[in-house]
Amino acid sequence: MVEVTRTVIVKSAPLSRSMFRAFAELEAMYRNMIEQLVSYATRSGITSFARLKALKYGELRARYPQLPSHYAYTACQDASTRAKSFLRLKKRRLAEKNYPEVRRVSIWLDDHLWRMESLTSIEIATHKGWLGIELEPHKQYWKYVNCGWKLATEVKVRLDKRHRQLLMYLTFKRRGVEECEPRGYITIDVNENHEAVLIDGTVYLFETGFKDTVLGYSYRRKRVQEKYDELYGVKGRAKKKVIRKLKERKVKDDVKWKFANIVVREAKKRRCAIVLEKLPRQCQREMIEDVKDEQLRHRLYQACFKAVQKAIKEKAREYGVRVEDDVDPKNTSKLCPIHGAKVVYKRERGDRIGLCSKGGERWHRDVVACWNLFIKALQRARSCNGSSAPSLSGLSLDGSLVPLGSTAAHDPIEVPRSLWVRWKSLDATNKHELMRMSI
Ligand SMILES: [Zn+2]
Repeated sequence: MVEVTRTVIVKSAPLSRSMFRAFAELEAMYRNMIEQLVSYATRSGITSFARLKALKYGELRARYPQLPSHYAYTACQDASTRAKSFLRLKKRRLAEKNYPEVRRVSIWLDDHLWRMESLTSIEIATHKGWLGIELEPHKQYWKYVNCGWKLATEVKVRLDKRHRQLLMYLTFKRRGVEECEPRGYITIDVNENHEAVLIDGTVYLFETGFKDTVLGYSYRRKRVQEKYDELYGVKGRAKKKVIRKLKERKVKDDVKWKFANIVVREAKKRRCAIVLEKLPRQCQREMIEDVKDEQLRHRLYQACFKAVQKAIKEKAREYGVRVEDDVDPKNTSKLCPIHGAKVVYKRERGDRIGLCSKGGERWHRDVVACWNLFIKALQRARSCNGSSAPSLSGLSLDGSLVPLGSTAAHDPIEVPRSLWVRWKSLDATNKHELMRMSI
């Protein structure tokens, strides 16, 4: 059974000074435990929670007798996760330091350490006994509560020292929709500044603007840095604050989820599976190896290829849409989907338009990529299931896999970000905007 989880951050109402002090003390003790456990675990190569707990539980209880006993459990869980990811990075030579650093701490609570009093208040077990906290729920929280999502028993808590509030990381769970046998495919080619999507024989280019977002923010960051360095020196704290306020991550996340939402809903409507190209584990790292241009390196690094694919997979689980993400992307933009011959891209045409070396027809690079992904997925399904495999509805599959039409048929439809982000579905975007543009 698939399970879908979502994390929602809910703030507490501002706490009294004494109450907040209790939580600050708790956090300090918890941080101490984590620091000791993580350093011990990485030194002795322990990544298993059970083993760490067996070795360290007694010691932790003796050192912090005032804390409820379950903090020793959750600290071991937290620490073993940290140790595991550090050792994995180290093995792949990606760790920056020789020892793991415990920077940000959120306190992990299990079902013995917190309880829900009502939908807007909770209690947390501390060294000062049970403390009641009022929540400040928001729209999104109520949406999950009212739509049949269940709260998980584990919660993470972070302290906001400036506003004397607690941030509760609540996890909601729900059973995913059962996946159904696909009748066709929607293929997606992920790019730096747009996503190419093949739906019903047409390729749409959804502009994401990630390139401009990343570049814009990197300029802004640089400007802030220069200005503040001059005013307050390199180590000034004011600079950090301003930089933190730039919300690059938030902007990109928003676009990413909206895109995933549109594509998955289109796939659900048509009973299609979504086909993604397989990206290597460290795809950005590999791509930038030969790139000298500092700006381009940064852009590629940030282009969140993986993040977009991940968002699509998450959404698809929720809707019961199958995702095939293991299609080999080799040659997908190089060969003509009709003739199988090489497509030659000319520099002066902006590198995205090419001509088929056999038939001489015009191709847009991303259209080629989408169709080739489609063909690869179809061929694989046929070699596995024979005739019960999905077919291209309404399009001829005998001679060639792609409808041979005028050159116009190979041109993608570009959808500017301002449009699809606003209308949130392909139909609405089509109806309201694209039609008007074509008139
Ligand atoms: Zn061709």
